[in-house]
Amino acid sequence: MPERRATVAREPSEPAFEGLLQRKSSDQLVPRERVPVLLPLPLGGTYDYKVPTGLELEPGACVTVPLGRREVVGVVWDGEGDPESVSNKRLRPVLQRHDVPPLPTVHRRFIDWVAAYSLSERGVLLRTALAGGRGLTPPRPVAALRLREGEDAEQARAALRMTPARRRVLDELADGPARPSADLARAAAVGTGVLRGLQDAGVLELVSLPVSLGIERPDWRRRGPKLSASQAKAAEALRDAVRSATSAETSEDGFSVTLLDGVTGSGKTEVYHEAIAETLAAGRQVLVLLPEIALTAQWLERFAARFGVPPVEWHSDLGPRQRQRAWRAVAFGDAGVVVGARSALFLPFPRLGLIVVDEEHEAAFKQDDGACYHARDMAVVRARLGKIPIVLASATPSLESVMNVRDGRYGHLELTQRHGSAGLPQVELVDLKRNIPKRVEDLGQSWLSDPLRARLKETFAAGEQAMLFLNRRGYAPLTLCRRCGHRLACPNCTAWLVEHRLAARLQCHHCGFRSRLPERCPECDAEGSLAACGPGVERLGEEVRALFPEVRSQVVSSDSVMGPQAAMELLQAVGAGEVDLLIGTQIVAKGHHFPKLTCVGVVDADLGLTGGDLRAAERSFQLLHQVAGRSGRAERAGRVLVQTYEPEHPVMQALASGERDRFLESEAEVRRLAGMPPFSRLVALVLSDPDPERVDELCATLARRAPRGEGIEVLGPAPAPLAILRRRHRRRFLLRTRREMAPQPIIRDWLAGLRLPGSLRLQIDVDPYSFV
Ligand code: ADP
Ligand code: ZN
Repeated sequence: MPERRATVAREPSEPAFEGLLQRKSSDQLVPRERVPVLLPLPLGGTYDYKVPTGLELEPGACVTVPLGRREVVGVVWDGEGDPESVSNKRLRPVLQRHDVPPLPTVHRRFIDWVAAYSLSERGVLLRTALAGGRGLTPPRPVAALRLREGEDAEQARAALRMTPARRRVLDELADGPARPSADLARAAAVGTGVLRGLQDAGVLELVSLPVSLGIERPDWRRRGPKLSASQAKAAEALRDAVRSATSAETSEDGFSVTLLDGVTGSGKTEVYHEAIAETLAAGRQVLVLLPEIALTAQWLERFAARFGVPPVEWHSDLGPRQRQRAWRAVAFGDAGVVVGARSALFLPFPRLGLIVVDEEHEAAFKQDDGACYHARDMAVVRARLGKIPIVLASATPSLESVMNVRDGRYGHLELTQRHGSAGLPQVELVDLKRNIPKRVEDLGQSWLSDPLRARLKETFAAGEQAMLFLNRRGYAPLTLCRRCGHRLACPNCTAWLVEHRLAARLQCHHCGFRSRLPERCPECDAEGSLAACGPGVERLGEEVRALFPEVRSQVVSSDSVMGPQAAMELLQAVGAGEVDLLIGTQIVAKGHHFPKLTCVGVVDADLGLTGGDLRAAERSFQLLHQVAGRSGRAERAGRVLVQTYEPEHPVMQALASGERDRFLESEAEVRRLAGMPPFSRLVALVLSDPDPERVDELCATLARRAPRGEGIEVLGPAPAPLAILRRRHRRRFLLRTRREMAPQPIIRDWLAGLRLPGSLRLQIDVDPYSFV
C-alpha cells in the first residue's frame, strides 16, 4: 500500500513582494526568472516555472505549464518561488500566458485565506475559481459568408448560372454584413451545397466572426417600485454602505456586514435591489448568492423586470459554453450582476462592489465535500478583504448572525411588516396524539388528520390553492417484509432503501444505488410480503387523490423537478391556477410567491427535530417558518396547519406564536449550556477506508496523539452515524475548542507527519454542519 503524508495547507504567508521585477543582491532590477504557479489540483503548494524571455508574468497571470507529460492551466502566485526546490537550470518553462486579466490580488488572498481557514488545499479552491479553464480562451469564431467585392467578384457573378436558390442567397446577403453559414442557409431555405457552390464560383467568401459574449449591463437607472417608509429607510442605509465603499477615497475601508432581517414578503428583495442599483451606478460588480439556484426562476424574472436584462448566472447546471461566457464576462468586468450558488464566490471579479447572500440561514451554503467551506461565512471574508459591504438577508436568520448583531459586529435592518395588505399567516398546531389520521379506503396508512382535511376542503371550495409539505422524497422511506421483518437496506451504506413508485424502483439517497422492488423478500423468500412503511411525497399524493379525486395535484421534489427550466414551467402552471395543490419537499419551501395559495399543511413537523445535529431545532424552525410563509402572500389571509406529536416543543410553540426572537433566545441558551457553536468551535475529522481494521488502526494512532490542553476537547473516535457509506467504513473525531481559540493550528499539529495508507480518506470539516 503506497503511503502519503497528510497534507494540510499552511498558513498563508503574506506576499513579500509583488510585481513584475525583483530586486537582486546587486540592487539591480532584473526580470523575474522563476515564478511560483498554483495549479488547480489537490495540492497545497505551488510549483516553480521558468519565465521565458519576453514574457511578462505578474502574480495572477493565467498560464499553461507542463506537468509531467501533461499541460495544465495554472495561475502565477505571489512570491519569488523557491530556488532550493529545483535549480534554475532544471526548471521547465511556462508555455503560454492566456489573454485574460490577471486574477486580482484580493482574489488570490481570498483563496489563501479560505484554504488556511478550512484546512483545505489551495489548488482545490483554484480549481473552483478556474472552473475547468475554459474561460481562459475566447469562444471560437463563427464561420460566416459574405459577398466578395472587387472586379474578380463582379466577373464571377456575371458568369454565374443563376438558379432560384442562388438568387435567394444573394438577396439575403445584398448590402448586408457577413452571416453565419447556418443562419444564411436557413434564411434562404437552401442546403449547404448551394452555399459551397457559390463559394467555389468565387461569389461568396468565408470570413470568421468573433463571437460577442452578448452580455448587457443591467440598467440601474430604471425605477423600482415605490418603497414604503420602512423599506425606504432600509434601502437608504444599504445605499450608504455601498457609497462608503465606492466613493472616491478608495483608501477608506468600506467593509460592513448588514443583516437584512424581515418577515417573508416584507420586500427584502426590493430593498437590496436598491443597493444593487447603487453599486452598478458606481461602475462596480455585484454578486448575489442564493442557496439553490435551480429554484430561483422567480428571482431571475424579478431581476429582469427591475433592471431590464437578466443577470449572469453561475451554477452547476451551466453547459460548457455558458460557463465559458459567464466566466469571461466576470473576469473582464462585463458582468454587472452575477447570481449564483456558492461556487460563484470564487469567480475572479475585478471590481466587486457588493455581495448579497439571500436566505443566509440556509444549510445549502455549506459545502461538505472536497473543500469544506461555508459560503456565507467566506462571503463575509471576501467582503472584508475587498473592503466592500455585504448584505445577509433572511426571514429566519441563523443563530450565528443574530449573535453577531447582538455583539455589534453586524448591522441590523428590520422589516416587520408584509408589503401591502397581506397579513402574516395564522399558524395552528394539530396534535397528532389526539387527531389520529383516519384510514382512507383502499389505502394502508394515511397521514392527513381531520382538521387538515377539513381545511383543504374549504380551500378548494373557495377556489384557492393549497400546499402540503413533507420533507421526504419518494413513496416510502422504508420497505419491510411483513413475514420476517427484514428491511431492505442499501448494499453500500448504512441506510434503508427508499421506494420511488413513479420510477418503479428502490433508491439509496446517499450513494445513488438503485434496484427494482423485488417480488419476494430477499431474506425469507415470501412472495408479496414487502410493505411500504411511512410516507413520502408520492404516497401523500396517493392519499390526496383518494380524498379529493377532482383536485389537480402535483408532487414536487428534486426527483420530479430537475433544473431551472422545469422549475420555471411548474411555477408558471401554479401561477396560472392550473394546479390546486402542491405536494412537496423542501424545494417548495423557498421563495416562491403565489397570490392564491392560502393554505399550507405541514404533514410531519417532528421530522426535522430528530437526529444528532446540533442545529436540528434551529433548522426545523427555519424550514417550517419558511413553509408557513408561502401562504397568504396577497390579499387573502393564509392559514397554516402544523401536524405534530410534540405541540409543547419550543419549536412548535414559537411557530404557533410567531415569537421568533424568543425561540432564538432559548436556542442560544441551550447551545451556551451545551458549549456548542456559536459559543465554541468545532472541527470534524472523518476517516474512511474500505477496510474497517485499517481505519480503526489509524484512529487508534490519532487518539494516542490527540491534542490536549486548556479549552481543547477531542470527542471520538466513534463510528459515524452513516457508519458505512459507499462501502467505506467511516469514523469521526470531533475537536472542540473555546470560541476565542483558533482550532486550525491544533489540527495541523495533530496531523503533522501522519502517514496515511493510500486507500484511506481523511476529510477535515471546520465548522461542520453535517453530522452524519
Ligand atoms: P421578501 O424578499 O422579504 O420575501 P419580496 O421583496 O419578495 O419580499 O416582496 C414580496 C412581494 O411584495 C413581491 O411580490 C414584491 O414585488 C412586493 N413588494 C414588496 N415591496 C413592494 C413595494 N414597495 N411596492 C410594490 N410591491 C412590493
Ligand atoms: Zn447507498
